[in-house]
Amino acid sequence: MTELYDLTIHELQDLLKTKKASSQEITTSVFQRIKSVEPRVQAYITLTEESALAQAKLADEKISSVGAQFIAPLFGIPIGIKDNFLTEGIKTTAGSNILNNYIPPYNGTTVQKLLDAGAIIPGKLNMDEFAMGSSNETSFFGTPKNPWDLERIAGGSSGGSAAAVAAGECFASTGTDTGGSIRLPAALTNLVGIKPTYGRVSRYGVIAFASSLDQVGPLTKDVMDGAIMLQALAGHDPKDSTSINTPVPNYVEGLKKLPKDLPLKGWKIAIPKEYFVEGMDAEVSKATQEAIETLKRLGAECREVSLPHTQYGVPTYYILATAEASSNLARYDGIRYGHRKSDPASLVDLYKKSRSEGFGSEVKRRIMLGTYVLSAGYYDAYYIRAQKVRTLIRQDFEKVFEENDVILTPVSPTPAWKIGEKAADPLKMYLSDIFTININLAGLPALSLPCGMTQSGLPIGMQIVSKHFQEEKMLQAAYAYEQATSWSQMRARL
Ligand code: GLN
Repeated sequence: MTELYDLTIHELQDLLKTKKASSQEITTSVFQRIKSVEPRVQAYITLTEESALAQAKLADEKISSVGAQFIAPLFGIPIGIKDNFLTEGIKTTAGSNILNNYIPPYNGTTVQKLLDAGAIIPGKLNMDEFAMGSSNETSFFGTPKNPWDLERIAGGSSGGSAAAVAAGECFASTGTDTGGSIRLPAALTNLVGIKPTYGRVSRYGVIAFASSLDQVGPLTKDVMDGAIMLQALAGHDPKDSTSINTPVPNYVEGLKKLPKDLPLKGWKIAIPKEYFVEGMDAEVSKATQEAIETLKRLGAECREVSLPHTQYGVPTYYILATAEASSNLARYDGIRYGHRKSDPASLVDLYKKSRSEGFGSEVKRRIMLGTYVLSAGYYDAYYIRAQKVRTLIRQDFEKVFEENDVILTPVSPTPAWKIGEKAADPLKMYLSDIFTININLAGLPALSLPCGMTQSGLPIGMQIVSKHFQEEKMLQAAYAYEQATSWSQMRARL
C-alpha cells in the first residue's frame, strides 16, 4: 500500500475532502517517516513536531466544524520551509553560524501566505550558507544527502528543501533561486522546481543574498502540486518594492483546460544550441533529446535557436551576485543580529572577529570578490560592464520569445555528484549552474521537471522557460509532458 507520506498535495486534498484521512494522520505519517530516514538524509536544521501536531489537531477540528469542501488549498498539509525564510518564534539560520541563535519576531510574507492557505510547518530546511552554493556543502549544519543515493549531494542551495520532499519528509517545500538554487536540486532529486518571474512572489522576510536576482518558489513532487504552491505564494506585496502588481492567473485551472489530445498543438518550443555543449553528460543529453521527441508527439513544433551571449552568464553572475551579497551581508556585524565575539578589544575588533568567526569560507570569498568589483577603479571595469552584458543576455531571450512560446534546456550538465567531489574547487562548482544562471539574469520564470533516469538510477531534469509573467505557459507545457510520461511518479526508496 502507498504510504501517506508518498502522496502528492492534490491526492491529499482529495483524501481530506472525502474524510479518508485526517490532517493528524497525514502529519503523523510525515513525522514517522522523519524518524526513520532523517538520521541518514539530514534535510532539516530545525524540527517543530509539537507545534505541527497541534496545528494538525486544529485543522481537523476546523474541517469537522466548517465542512471539508470549504477548506483552503494547503489545509492540513505539512510544507517544509527553507531556513532563509523568517518564521516567527522558530530559529532561522540561513545555514550560517553567524545566525545560529537568531529567532525572528515575525513571519515573512510567503510563510504567512502558506499558513493562511492552511499549511502546517514541520520544520526548517538545510541550505548552503546564505544560499551560496550548488551542493549544500557550504552549510554550517552539514550536508543533506540525496535520497536516490546517500553518497551524493541533493543539490543546492535548497538542498534540504529537495532532500526532504524526495524522501517523503514533507509534501512540498519552499526554496529560493538566485542562480539555480530551486531548479538544480529539484532536477537532481526527481522533483518539480519553480523559479517564478522576478517580481511575481514577495521576498519580504526572506534573508537576502543578491537582491536583483533572488526569487522565491516551490519544490514539489509533480506539476499540479507546483501550480497549487505557486498559487499560494504568488501576488503583489506592498512590503516588497520589487514585487509587481499584476493579476495572478488560476494556474490549476490552466492545467485542467489543456486538451487531452495533442495538448501542445500549435506550440513553438525553442531549443537553444548553446545549451547542448561538449563535456555535458551523455545520459543528460540523451534524456533531453528524448523529451524533445515526446513534446513533438504532443503536437509541439521544436526548433533550434541561438542565445549568443550564453557563455558570459557565469562570469556576469559572479560579479553581480557577489557585489550585491557584499552589500547585503554588511548588516551582520555582531551588534544587530546573531553571533557576537566575546571580550572584544575595540569596536573594530568586535566587527572583525564576529564576522570572521560567523561566516564560512565561501561566504567570505564572495564578500571579498564583491567588495573588489565595487571598489573605486574597478567598478567600471567589472560591475558596470557586467550590467551591460546582463542587458545583452536579457535581449537574447526577448528575441527568441518574439517567435516562440517556451524554451527547453537541460537543468544540470551532470546528474547528482558525490559529496566532496567539487567542494574544493569553486570554479567547478560555479559551472554546475551554467544552464540556470542566465534565466535569473534575465528575470524570467523557469521550471525544472523530471525527464529521465541514468543507468545507475539517478534522476535527470529538464528546464522549461517562459516569457515574463507567463508561468501558466511553462506549467502547461510541463504538465502535458508529465501526463505523457511517468518520471514524476518515481519515488526514492530509502
Ligand atoms: N549556485 C549559485 C551560487 O552559488 C546559485 C545559488 C542560488 O541560486 N542561491 O551563487
